[in-house]
Amino acid sequence: MNDRILLSPPDTGPAEEEAVLRALRGGWVAPLGPEVDAFEEEIASYTGRKHAVALSSGTAALHLGLLNYGVGPGDVVVTATMTFAATANAITYTGAEPVFVDCDETGNIDVDLLDHAVTDLQAQGRRIAAIVPVDLLGKVANYERITEIAARAGAPVLSDAAESLGAWRNGRPAGSFGDVSILSFNGNKVMTTSGGGMLLTDDPHVATRTRYLATQARQPVLHYEHTEIGYNYRLSNILAAIGRAQLGRLDEMIARRRWNRLRYREMVSALRGVQMFGAPDGSDGAPTRDNYWLTSILVDPDAAGWSASTLATRLNAGGIEARPLWKPMHLQPVYGGLLSYVNGTSERLHSSGLSLPSGSVMTPAQLDRVIQTVQEVTGDLHRAVPDASALTASPSTSAPHSR
Ligand SMILES: *Cc1c(COP(=O)(O)O)cnc(C)c1O
Repeated sequence: MNDRILLSPPDTGPAEEEAVLRALRGGWVAPLGPEVDAFEEEIASYTGRKHAVALSSGTAALHLGLLNYGVGPGDVVVTATMTFAATANAITYTGAEPVFVDCDETGNIDVDLLDHAVTDLQAQGRRIAAIVPVDLLGKVANYERITEIAARAGAPVLSDAAESLGAWRNGRPAGSFGDVSILSFNGNKVMTTSGGGMLLTDDPHVATRTRYLATQARQPVLHYEHTEIGYNYRLSNILAAIGRAQLGRLDEMIARRRWNRLRYREMVSALRGVQMFGAPDGSDGAPTRDNYWLTSILVDPDAAGWSASTLATRLNAGGIEARPLWKPMHLQPVYGGLLSYVNGTSERLHSSGLSLPSGSVMTPAQLDRVIQTVQEVTGDLHRAVPDASALTASPSTSAPHSR
């Protein structure tokens, strides 16, 4: 390994190694087996769902979730513009057309704009086949309002909770919202199976049909009878074993990410023109708890004297991975020209936002290096040093000016 500090690298160790050996020695080297069954049960219980179906990716889970509700050509699916391309790609796989709605300051879908979009689409006579909100960077969206709006539209809610496992809203865990929700266990997420996903639902028919579609839509007969097109989307038993070990460590890994967030918050308080991205927990009308997946800052270039992209270039040159917030889908060349309801927020967050290394595997020394580099690059070093009492009261492990 080199000493490049990554945004959100996998955090694996002895527990995962043991789990892989256990699965291999158990003999189930296949996309099914006891580890898959146990992983599904454990995730269902963690998220308070009746059913969980382990799949090969979060994208696959979204795709099958949409197919369960008959989403197809001629339909529109309303989703967030502020997301990773996977959300819009899965909608497109079905033949339906994504319609993008902008976000509010939390980065999650702006519910007033969503309300307007649904009214407008209905007035145009479009069939809204589903609504797909996204829990951006680990903060749960406003499902109280979203559910109301969806009910009016007669559309199911598919919650893209790929980034938010372990977060909470109003006493309910991420993944428990919507008719269906999906998780991702990609290598950069809060926990990983190296690649994988999960579909969550309380509806037994959706769970059964998802398993069926994910195994090539095989009829339950010996001779491989098929009456529909299926997919090869199941999760391997070996990877499910990794997932179980990760789930056992999830709360501890989230605590580490939270620690990173606190250190960055302290850093930001001393930087002119910089603020933390994301409304504080509980500020959007409901008690919430973030899973601290990625910590991001917002830079006002006029006040700071430098821009987020300048800082990104300098950090990356210094061996520190930093990336802008997602580029909104309505600005993506591949999705240009599609209908979208925008208010400028996602565009502003994209140009002023920067995600910093946030992994649970990051050491205190690495975090110090990131913070020191930010302080050096911003040229605010001396002015930024808080007074000594602030330092002892802070969660710092070393003085920010020690280099
Ligand atoms: C990661 C991610 C996905 C896709 O998950 P994969 O497991 O990589 O397919 C979907 N939506 C969002 C918002 C994501 O961040």
